[in-house]
Amino acid sequence: MNRIIIYVFSIILMVGGISTIFHPSPYPPSSFFGIDTLPKGGDVTPIKWELGFILIFISILLFFSEYRKQPKPKPPQYTKCPKCKEVFNYNELKDGKCKNCKDVDTVDLEEYFKKYPEELEEKEKV
Ligand SMILES: [Zn+2]
Repeated sequence: MNRIIIYVFSIILMVGGISTIFHPSPYPPSSFFGIDTLPKGGDVTPIKWELGFILIFISILLFFSEYRKQPKPKPPQYTKCPKCKEVFNYNELKDGKCKNCKDVDTVDLEEYFKKYPEELEEKEKV
């Protein structure tokens, strides 16, 4: 699942928990498949602390479990030489210089196609 969705969801839970504690009355249906889960009229005032804290606790748990996940390692960076059109793995190069043409700086692939969009179009045609 997308991280942003989890963050937004945890914030919604947090707000829901806080509003449960401070504005417990305007809560909707009191029955869930015919079972009375909440006191009559959907008024959660008697259990507002319990319910509010459960919601806040879940939201914090959700937020930090996602936050602690390590971001995915960066994929190897590819660069391209503007002179001989060769693509390299940047880690294999010395200071980003082309192996074939001495002292020619290779360009990050994304940057390269921004610079020479016509080459990208050629590539897509193939
Ligand atoms: Zn080159």
